[in-house]
Amino acid sequence: MDLNDGPEYAAFREEIRAFLVSREADAPAVRGPNDGKARAWQRLLIERGYAARTIPRQYGGGGREPDILKSRILAEEFARAQVSPGLGGQGISMLVPTLLDVGTEAQRMQFIPPTLSGEMVWCQGYSEPGAGSDLASLRTSAVLDGDHWVINGQKIWTSTAHVADWMFCLVRTEPDAPKHRGISFLLFRMDTPGIEVRPLIDMTMRRNFNEVFFTDVRVPKDQIVGKRGEGWKVANVILKNERDSLGDPNQTLTRLNMLIDIMKSETIDGRRLIDDPLWLDRLMRIQGRVMAMRHNDLRVLSSKLNEGQDSSLARMIVKLQGTELRHELEALAIDAMGEVGLAYGANPYVRDNGGWQYWHMYYLGLIIGGGTSQIQKNIVAERGLGMPREPRAGEA
Ligand SMILES: Cc1cc2nc3c(=O)[nH]c(=O)nc-3n(C[C@H](O)[C@H](O)[C@H](O)COP(=O)(O)OP(=O)(O)OC[C@H]3O[C@@H](n4cnc5c(N)ncnc54)[C@H](O)[C@@H]3O)c2cc1C
Repeated sequence: MDLNDGPEYAAFREEIRAFLVSREADAPAVRGPNDGKARAWQRLLIERGYAARTIPRQYGGGGREPDILKSRILAEEFARAQVSPGLGGQGISMLVPTLLDVGTEAQRMQFIPPTLSGEMVWCQGYSEPGAGSDLASLRTSAVLDGDHWVINGQKIWTSTAHVADWMFCLVRTEPDAPKHRGISFLLFRMDTPGIEVRPLIDMTMRRNFNEVFFTDVRVPKDQIVGKRGEGWKVANVILKNERDSLGDPNQTLTRLNMLIDIMKSETIDGRRLIDDPLWLDRLMRIQGRVMAMRHNDLRVLSSKLNEGQDSSLARMIVKLQGTELRHELEALAIDAMGEVGLAYGANPYVRDNGGWQYWHMYYLGLIIGGGTSQIQKNIVAERGLGMPREPRAGEA
């Protein structure tokens, strides 16, 4: 495979680099708040075709032709420069592609433009106590009453529910059908009467997720995506999009380069860590895996470019390997900083705003969120490698 850009793509890469240098001051912090600065940056990126690139203009996107290589160059260059690639979140990364795939035209027109611009923030109401890995066991019910669904039940681990304007939610609408066929996919406003959001503080000491309770919540009948009882199919479109967006190898490479800088500057007995065989050994083990993920990414890319080639197995590995690798990479940086590595929060000695400690803990969460590593391994084994299916609970 020729890894050189070729003239058109080399020019595109130069264009992005020049843009990132000239407009760096306008960029908000990576993963910072969804405020005026972040929305203005998002508008600029969409206008230039750098964010929401292939989403049609009538839905508020960049309206460009799909070009896998250009999308890849964008991801690489924004990650390399450590500049925000625009707004993210569950609405943009999961719901928008799903509505494009299975939503009605009215739903696309209503929801996609304000979601892309950051005016409509979403949360994902899937997991429940007793329904996480075995999501299809969910029990939150929705019963049709005239023109409304009436929802009762509880969700848990709902990221950003406290700041979200809307939720996309899985509910049980056909209690007598087999469990995968009794689920529907509803959209509703978070200020609908009967919704209560309670905070959960995670190990980073931040409120990243919540519990959400529903008591007789009334949702207009047409706020359903897909057909009644077919929410499982819709959910699977979303999960595929979620898993694709976790464990990005470009960002991991940027973090690896930052880790190398730390190991060049930190010393033990006057010797740089990077020159110490034991530390170098640890670094090279991580580096080898980062390179393997980059090559896996190229494998996905080349199968997308060559129609008919199946990239599904290579894609299944990204979330599993990518999140575990990031967790371990951040841990090595923390070790390399010595006692400063233990500083967190408002501690005056904390390095890089406590980012290494935060991401180390956050990635432990991502190893679980969006399907745990054990579940990912089952999927790789059964669907990717064709190994025998493990017994399911309740099966003889
Ligand atoms: C940071 C974070 C953010 C999240 N955000 C959201 C969100 O926004 N919306 C939402 O709906 N949910 C969210 N979740 C929930 C997440 O999807 C679930 O935590 C996850 O699916 C696991 O479910 P569970 O917690 O119920 O664990 P369980 O399913 O109870 O699993 C417990 C343990 O058993 C293992 N296990 C279970 N079944 C099997 C099996 N068949 N084979 C082998 N091992 C198995 C699991 O791997 C795990 O180690 C989030 C979770 C985290 C950590």
